[in-house]
Amino acid sequence: MPIYEYGCQACGHQFEKLIRNPDDLPKSCPSCGQPRLKKRFSTFAAKVAAPAGGCRNQEACPVAHTCRGGCCGGHG
Ligand SMILES: [Zn+2]
Repeated sequence: MPIYEYGCQACGHQFEKLIRNPDDLPKSCPSCGQPRLKKRFSTFAAKVAAPAGGCRNQEACPVAHTCRGGCCGGHG
């Protein structure tokens, strides 16, 4: 499930948002209401970029981006 981190270019407010479908994409800043959001980071993308042979429990493993196995009970 992709989580996007946004930063407002108008007021500097930063927030994360879980995107289940395109309707969840934030259209304006929840703090100031300005539609000047910039996507800063995607947790989902970072996990997808994990090296081959890494943690297979990407969804639940808290350190999936560095895990090589053994960090959680989800390895098989
Ligand atoms: Zn703002």
